[in-house]
Parts: sequence; structure tokens; C-alpha cells
Amino acid sequence: MGDSCKVAVIGGGIAGLVSARELQREGHQVTVFEKADKIGGTWLYDSRVETDLLGLDPNREVVHSSLYKSLRVNLPRQIMGFLDYPFVKKQGGDPRHFPGHQEVLRFIEDFARNFGLLELIRFGHEVVRVERVDVASHEWIVESRTQETESSWELKAELFEAVVICNGNTTEPRIAAFPGRDTWPGLQMHSHNYRTPEQFKNKIVVLIGNGPSAIDILKELAPVAKQVHQAIRGTGFQLKKLENRDNAWQHSTIACAHKDGRVVFQDESIVVADAIIHCTGYKFHFPFLRTNGIVNVDDTNRVGPLYKHVFPPSLAPWLSFVGPNYEGAPAVVMELQARWVAKVLSGKLELPRQEEMMYSVEEQYREMEKNGWPKPTLNLQHSGLEYIGWFAAQLGIRPPNWWKKITFWSILKARSHYGDDYRDAWDIHKWMQEMDSPN
Ligand code: FAD
Repeated sequence: MGDSCKVAVIGGGIAGLVSARELQREGHQVTVFEKADKIGGTWLYDSRVETDLLGLDPNREVVHSSLYKSLRVNLPRQIMGFLDYPFVKKQGGDPRHFPGHQEVLRFIEDFARNFGLLELIRFGHEVVRVERVDVASHEWIVESRTQETESSWELKAELFEAVVICNGNTTEPRIAAFPGRDTWPGLQMHSHNYRTPEQFKNKIVVLIGNGPSAIDILKELAPVAKQVHQAIRGTGFQLKKLENRDNAWQHSTIACAHKDGRVVFQDESIVVADAIIHCTGYKFHFPFLRTNGIVNVDDTNRVGPLYKHVFPPSLAPWLSFVGPNYEGAPAVVMELQARWVAKVLSGKLELPRQEEMMYSVEEQYREMEKNGWPKPTLNLQHSGLEYIGWFAAQLGIRPPNWWKKITFWSILKARSHYGDDYRDAWDIHKWMQEMDSPN
């Protein structure tokens, strides 16, 4: 490890940009590969949808962003910014605490311009291979392709000392499994491909899931669809009419679907539906990464092994991952991870020995198993506070009080308290004050 490394960052979304900034601040030579022709990643709304609406065909042309047209952020802007670059209201912008997605893109563009990051980015460069030159080497081949004509691509391979992977984790759909799914005759799509409600006018729609996308899409569909039925996993979800809606019901999960259009739920209710929308989340996907099995995404969507969700112990610090599936304040976590990676690469911070890092990963797996927590490595719902506290200590940052209080659960609690109009009903100033108080 030297003072300055030649580093490739893959992706020009929030994670890639904040990584580029931290690496540049630390004196590294940074190249960001971005397959699109603009920055923003998820926040670059794309009205196109994929040809395979469930995302099962591995050869489909992938549309990166999963945003629907009406999307407003589901976290208050006060916790969506960076430590030294908050997501503040700007003249001419969307002043709401929960602004529309266009405002997030503006924030990202301002951030990139402000820190001179655009010059570091190679737009239109899709990374197709990241691989070590050989097993004993710390050098990485980063192969990217650029489109020359409609049907021809140019491939280019370059060497880097380190690679930071920031390709996002909300593009590759995870879909629900139930008997009869593949022969059910209606329209099925993943929320990744949902943009606007028009096509569901007067239709009977089943929505699977109870996360932010399912809640938003239900709210948007109910006024236009004939009926909306929400299938929810977990105990206690049974057939029930939804309050404040004439045409929406809640059910347990789908038990099976039939060729005659019937959808049968575990609670024994039955609906003959026109469409099923899977609002069931995403899979980690690194199609370009070749590590001979050192880093894997297993069938529970766990990426590993990763020390502190960032470094694979045997490839550290030359390969790292920034951009977790973090249900709290994601930008700050990405910033902390990126700062740590930059400082480890410059030799200012040290990593433990490989065996110790591996032990820490295994210990974390044991802890998750013991507590019955969900599997994905980057699921920080249950240990988020400890996690950001650890980074703050490593980096010598004094965390604000709200860091200790704003968790996945505190956000969920506030959202459920204010119902599905939470974005406008929630008193953010009061909530932030409570969160910032020392007790
Ligand atoms: P992305 O934004 O996905 O960026 C990844 C980038 O990598 C993209 O630009 C992509 O083009 C590029 N890329 C991918 N593969 C390659 C390749 N092979 N070569 C080159 N470039 C590549 N977060 C919040 O904080 N608040 C919210 O309200 C919120 N709402 C959300 C709503 C929806 C519907 C979704 C899907 C996500 C939401 N999120 C929200 C989470 C959001 O994903 C994160 O905030 C953040 O945008 C993730 O940033 P990222 O850089 O990790 O990934």
C-alpha cells in the first residue's frame, strides 16, 4: 500500500460519487466507470421498462433505475445528505421534506459539480470484467465496453491497483415464488418495471409486499384500479379491508395461482385477478466480478465474506464494496465506508490480519443466525448503530446524537404512526429535535 493508488470505481450513483470524492481527497488517482451517459444511478428516472417484466431473462436489456414516475423519497431529506454536504432546499427546487425524485438527482449533480467529480468519470463505459491479473497479484484488470454503433462494442482492458464496487443493488429483481406462478395467465411484473398506473385502470391487481414501493404503488393504484389486493408475508396478516379505501384489501401470502386466473391466498381468500405486481425487493448482482469463488452472492442474497460489509478479507484492501442495503441513512453510511476505504488504501488506517477479519465475519454470521435475523450480509437493520459508531471511531468523527437514534425501526415507527400520508403529515422538525436530544 502506498500513499497514492490507481483506483477504479464502478458506478456513478451516490456510492460511486462519494467514493470518488473520498479517494480523491486522500490523493488517489481515481477513474469512475459509469455505463450510463449521466450520473445519478437509481435517481436517473428512466421511462423505459425491460422486455421481461419479471426480470427472469438473463439476456434482457437491463434498465438500471427502478423509480416510478411519481416517486417521492421515503426518508426525510434531513437524513439523506452527506456529513459535510447536506441535502438542503435550494432556490427553484422542490422544498418539501420528502421531495420528488428529481430533487435528489439535482442534489447528486450539485454534489458532483461541487467536488469536481465529473472529470473523473468515463461515461458510457460499462464494466464487463473485474479480475485479478493472477492469484499472486494485487493488480486488477478492469475491462469495459463502449458502444460504437447500434450493434458493435469496443472492449478495452486496463490495470488498476484497487477496485471499489458501487454498481447499486436495486436493479436485479427478486420475485416471489408460489405454485402456479409460471402458468398464471395474467400480467406479472416486478415493481422495478412499474412506472405509472394507467395500464391498471379498472383492473384487479394483486400487489406482493409491504415495503415502501408496495405502499406507494397501492396508494397510486387504488384510485384507478377496480380492486387492489395486497399479499403480505408474516404472522398476523389475514384477509382484511384496508381502512380509508373502498377497493383495497390485505391478505396473507399467495398460496397458489391457477390457469383460470384465480389467486389463492394462505388465508384461503380467493381473487380472480388481472395482474400481479411483485414489490419484493432486489438481489445483489455483480455480473462482471470474477474472484474464483472468493466473493459470492448466496441464494439468501448474502454477499460475502466481507469484513465490515466492505472488504473481502483475502482480497483486502484491493477490492472493496461501498453502498450497503442499509435501512437508515444510506448516504452517510456510504460516505463513512468510502472514507475508510480511502484511508486504508493510503496506509493511514490499518486493517486487522486476514484471519482476524475472517473471524469477525464468521462471528457476525453466528450472531445473525442466533438471533434469527434476515440473512443478507449488508442488512444492517439490527446492528446499524453499532456499525456506524465503529466507523465514526475509526475515522475520529464525533457522531451527532441523531445517529444513535435514527434506525430502520425509528423510521418505520414514525411512518406507521402517520399512515400512508406520512410524507406530508410527519412533523419532521419535532422528530429531528427529539432525535437530536441527548436522552
Ligand atoms: P445506484 O444509484 O444504483 O448507482 C449505481 C450506478 O452504477 C448506476 O449509475 C449504474 O449505471 C452504474 N453501473 C452498474 N453496473 C455498472 C457496470 N457494469 N459498469 C459501469 N457502471 C455500472 N434511498 C434513500 O436514501 N431515500 C429514498 O427515499 C430511497 N428511495 C428509493 C426508492 C426506490 C424505488 C429505490 C429502488 C431505491 C431507493 N433508495 C432510497 C435507495 C437508493 O438506491 C440509494 O439511495 C442510492 O441511490 C444507491 O446508490 P448506489 O450508488 O449504491 O446505486
